[in-house]
Amino acid sequence: MTIHKTISQLANQCVLCGICIPHCPTYHVFKTENESPRGRISLLKALSEEQLEPSKALLISLDHCLGCRACEKICPSQVDYGQISRLGRELVKAQYPVYQRPFMQKMIEKVLITPYFHPLLKLAVKTLSPFQSLLSKQSNYAAVRQFSHEIAADSSQASPLEEYYPAPKDPGVHSQSKVQVILFKGCSSDLFEQQVLKDIILLLNACLIDVIIPEQQQCCGAISVRQGDAHTMQTLATQNIECFKSLLQESQAIISLNNSCSAHLKDYKQLLDSSEADEFSRKSVDAISFLSHAIESSNIQFSPLNEKIGVHIPCSLKNVLKEETLLFELLTHIPGIHLSKLNDNYCCGAAGSYMLQYPDVANHLLDDKIEAIAHQQYNTLVSSNIGCSLHFKQGLEKQEVMSGQKIEVIHPVRLLARQLNLN
Ligand code: SF4
Ligand code: SF4
Repeated sequence: MTIHKTISQLANQCVLCGICIPHCPTYHVFKTENESPRGRISLLKALSEEQLEPSKALLISLDHCLGCRACEKICPSQVDYGQISRLGRELVKAQYPVYQRPFMQKMIEKVLITPYFHPLLKLAVKTLSPFQSLLSKQSNYAAVRQFSHEIAADSSQASPLEEYYPAPKDPGVHSQSKVQVILFKGCSSDLFEQQVLKDIILLLNACLIDVIIPEQQQCCGAISVRQGDAHTMQTLATQNIECFKSLLQESQAIISLNNSCSAHLKDYKQLLDSSEADEFSRKSVDAISFLSHAIESSNIQFSPLNEKIGVHIPCSLKNVLKEETLLFELLTHIPGIHLSKLNDNYCCGAAGSYMLQYPDVANHLLDDKIEAIAHQQYNTLVSSNIGCSLHFKQGLEKQEVMSGQKIEVIHPVRLLARQLNLN
């Protein structure tokens, strides 16, 4: 079936009821039909049936979509908005190349998704860090500044990742390991979360699980969904499947730290029609879900933490993976912890590289959440999505200047590893 027919068929399942509209963050910001899920579905249907000529305004309203999938979760007709949107972006990229993304945006995304560039990027960021403050003067560059700040902080980690896996060499522990898993680093964790990667290895090893990290793994390809770049998506999926294939049989799962990567790895079976892609997607599990079950069936203990902790639920965890309750179950393994769910009415605005492309919309959406945080009495906010964490950090930095309230934003795995009782 052609891409036109597939979009048209999927879009025909929409009965135009409008139930999704109040749940859409861009409708919340712009208040127009074109910036709502129903509007976007109708536009893509018309484009795919060649009843409508594209225009820049029309394509921008499609591009404004954050991909949060709140509309899909609430839709009573179970319209597959995720697939309509992904195919729609592919159609636009293939047929209307005049409406391309800005050069700078494409360059940043290219560097992020190419592990080969990461050591170079880390070096450049370190060398240029004295000039970071210049970027903060322009709001468009606030996110870039936050990115570079995080890369500089993360690359100053003392010991390399390789020292942390497989399981500790203590024979008493290692000999009991029965389970092996593969860790999917993802480009974002590689650049921004080296410590969290070490933390998850520590936790898995404590549950008597060995960890393998294949060196040649690539970006999952989620960033290319926004670009409508089917070729790159398929190339990256094929490379990852090839890289992991010899390890899959003896491994129980492929674990990813970033909810967006986990969701995209599960979609490989949709991108590539092969039994290997099916197997890869079937074994892909988000770290929250895997750890929740692994800790449950282990004897590990955590030190008490008598603190109120803010919990941000990323859209990928809530609307795509639908595992939000597992995050709360996981964190309640820490005795005494008091969890406070952050207002999650709408997406925070991060949405991968969206915060770089549309900083005004992204910051508008973030403001409500920063305001909610300002009224809370907690010093730590956890988020299981690196993009959301970076977005919150730059928003909270501004808030901190005004209020003096310092809030740390960390991955839940980091919090668990800190409280892990190794005695
Ligand atoms: S996507 Fe679903 S909820 Fe939204 S208008 Fe269509 S049928 Fe209704
Ligand atoms: S994915 Fe999110 S931003 Fe896009 S149309 Fe649906 S609710 Fe709106």
